[in-house]
Amino acid sequence: MSTTLDLSRRPAPLPGPRTLAGLSIPALRAEMESLGLDGKQAGMRAKQLRRWIHHFGARDFAVMTDIAKDLRARLADTYVLDRPEIADHQVSKDGTQKWLTRFAPGVEGESVYIPDVGKAGALCVSSQVGCTLNCTFCHTGTQALVRNLTAAEIVQQVLITRDTLGEWPSAEEDRLLTNIVFMGMGEPLYNLDNIAEAIDTISDGDGIAIGRRRITVSTAGVAPKIPELGARTNAMLAISLHATNDDLRNELVPINRKYNLAELFDAIRAYPGLGNSRRVTFEYVMLKGVNDTIAEAHDLVRLLNGVPAKINLIPFNPWPGSPYECSGWDAIEAFAEILNRSGYASPIRTPRGRDILAACGQLRSESVKKSAAEKRREALAEGEAGVLRSEP
Ligand code: SAH
Repeated sequence: MSTTLDLSRRPAPLPGPRTLAGLSIPALRAEMESLGLDGKQAGMRAKQLRRWIHHFGARDFAVMTDIAKDLRARLADTYVLDRPEIADHQVSKDGTQKWLTRFAPGVEGESVYIPDVGKAGALCVSSQVGCTLNCTFCHTGTQALVRNLTAAEIVQQVLITRDTLGEWPSAEEDRLLTNIVFMGMGEPLYNLDNIAEAIDTISDGDGIAIGRRRITVSTAGVAPKIPELGARTNAMLAISLHATNDDLRNELVPINRKYNLAELFDAIRAYPGLGNSRRVTFEYVMLKGVNDTIAEAHDLVRLLNGVPAKINLIPFNPWPGSPYECSGWDAIEAFAEILNRSGYASPIRTPRGRDILAACGQLRSESVKKSAAEKRREALAEGEAGVLRSEP
């Protein structure tokens, strides 16, 4: 005799009202159609909602005075404008802020606001919770992938930052948040559909209105998706390079075993619209005794030949148990000097928010992907249904 769980007979959880915060125009239109509005009406309401939610930061349907009262009442009955719960919010002594956002039970991801970066301040958003890439120097790489974030969940990270900074409605000038970088947890090009939809929403001039040229997507090198990223988003491209030969890059950034440097650079050269005013940013983490010799600085210059590029040298940020050390300051300066002399702007990225583990590569959450067996065990333990059936 064996005992199995028949989850098909488990009562469906009661759905709470869903939030419209962070939804794209097509997603808002689909919601309006689901309320029975015809195509034209649904399109018009979607645009009004977008303006209220993403330009004014509305948290309440009552303020939406250009929407008929009875429809407003229906919206309020059906939806909310809530953001996901903020599980933790920390402020560094250097002004950097980090949010741990609970997108769903057990699905938590981090975002980091860094003042005085970009035109005025940059938000580093996560595209996935956890990561599949296992780069050896990256803290997120020690966390297995939990799941991709949805387009709305990516946009909600921007809304939460604007809420905290008090930047509603979207200001024309003197903004605190001017740039978005997809350099948080996860590999954006493994979630391209959702980041493309999120970028449409973030750059929409009648909404959040952060222009595409102020949005940078960083990839560890998913080569086949790189030209597609440009065609679909028109965002700025950043590449996490970190090594100048395949042997070392295979070790540090294991996705290199799948798409090697030659393939990666072919894809970069195919990125639409590259030129002097639209350069690729190459990120290069400085690891003591691993990739920081003068010879490697010269190799880097050779590798970038013909690519409109700038280089960001990132002093390695340690994390608990990390197997590397940051290069010495002299080594970093000598490396930068070679690049500068070859005509590359190569700023050394000042570590920000190290005291709250908010600097590059320090992000990680406790979220884990649950196995089907674990979910069943939990369902049983909670006693919330799960009908036991005995089979002869
Ligand atoms: N997966 C994408 C997005 C993450 S971006 C990518 O790899 O580009 C995060 C950036 O911080 C990457 O350039 C990454 O290589 C770098 N990084 C990771 N760990 C780091 C650490 N411990 N110190 C400094 N930079 C790190």
